[in-house]
Amino acid sequence: MKQLKRIKGTQDILPEKSPQWQALERHIRREMALFNFREIRTPVFEMTEVFARGIGQFTDIVSKEMYTFQDRSRKSLTLKPEMTAPVMRAFIENTLYARTPVHKLYYLAPLFRQENPQAGRLRQFHQYGAEFIGSPAPEADVETILLALHIFEGLGLKNMELRINSVGDPESREPYKALLRDYLSQNIPDPEPVVAERIANNPLRVLDSKDENLQEVIQQAPKLIDHLKESAAAHYHSVKAQLSKAGVGFREDPTLVRGLDYYTHTVFEVTSDALGAQNALCGGGRYDLLARELGDKDFPAVGFAAGMERILMALEAQGIQLAEPEAPDIFMITMGQAAREEMTPWLARLRRAGLSADADFLGRSVKAQFREANRSGARFSLILGEDELEQKFFSVKDMKNSTQENVPFGELTGYLLQKRKD
Ligand code: AMP
Repeated sequence: MKQLKRIKGTQDILPEKSPQWQALERHIRREMALFNFREIRTPVFEMTEVFARGIGQFTDIVSKEMYTFQDRSRKSLTLKPEMTAPVMRAFIENTLYARTPVHKLYYLAPLFRQENPQAGRLRQFHQYGAEFIGSPAPEADVETILLALHIFEGLGLKNMELRINSVGDPESREPYKALLRDYLSQNIPDPEPVVAERIANNPLRVLDSKDENLQEVIQQAPKLIDHLKESAAAHYHSVKAQLSKAGVGFREDPTLVRGLDYYTHTVFEVTSDALGAQNALCGGGRYDLLARELGDKDFPAVGFAAGMERILMALEAQGIQLAEPEAPDIFMITMGQAAREEMTPWLARLRRAGLSADADFLGRSVKAQFREANRSGARFSLILGEDELEQKFFSVKDMKNSTQENVPFGELTGYLLQKRKD
């Protein structure tokens, strides 16, 4: 029969990589707690409407990347392609706002998008992110940006760039969209269908196009930050001033608009020079318009999402290892049937004492067991043969220091616990 393969654009995370993932997850949880963010977990799938309404129909995600299917009751469901809309859905549905007006939430989650797989672009990938809901203040935008940077810096990542922009409020944006649409229509005489569609439906999206032929036109385009109404301009100014005061370097990028419709005011992205074409580590911004799409109230909010695969790629490229390879404390080697019968009870005793322990489960030769002990990376080999059994001791080999000692049964766990500290 034909061998089955994983779905294109998905990855198996094998045991040798898991320690890095776990260390990254621990780091994220610790840093989130430092900023007083609390974890929220939402289902892996949602009603399709959560995303169609929450993200916007003219975005790439909704128009072509979602894994959408009908269940047996003919409901349209979608594997979540992003977390902001589900978190807001959960926030409203569970009336979290009734408890306290401001909520700091974070998540770690697998996401699904039917993209063209390439380095740093997967169909199932993992994000962590933060959603700071309830405050319209620029201080909340700054808190969110500082959190994103703090996590990266704590990992030891270097050579990152923070870019920021403002996409304003609807009062600033609507007249600007009309202006931009006119400009683009006049200056791109024969647009490709995708570009024509964007000019018509979501002209801001043209600004973040990577198409070489459009760069000149994009650079010369009217800038939204030059058309911000007073309060939107004040918000943006405050964010920049606070970042500078906090000693954070950033570059203003008027072409940074991000793909999603719900953004307002501040948008930002952090890129790493350790990555290739897909160089964004995280993206985020303020999204004061999302809550109304999903419920009937307004909740101002700001957040970011970071790609975990990309972070691990950047760490590897910069030679940063978050965790040592995993190894047990002990590998037990037995010689002869009588000793082998003692293997299971001894393993149990060691583990009860808090020592991680493994042994041979194939009845292999002593030589093969030694090889396995080496391969496992265990700190100690415990050897139990006929002599040892008769005189009730173990030959304990310290694999780190290449020393060997005989240790009576009764003293074994205490001896190992003490030695493990060296
Ligand atoms: P987005 O939700 O598109 O704003 O993406 C936020 C972050 O998630 C990006 O900066 C990437 O680090 C990561 N990311 C987005 N899409 C993918 C993907 N298809 N594969 C891997 N990482 C991704």
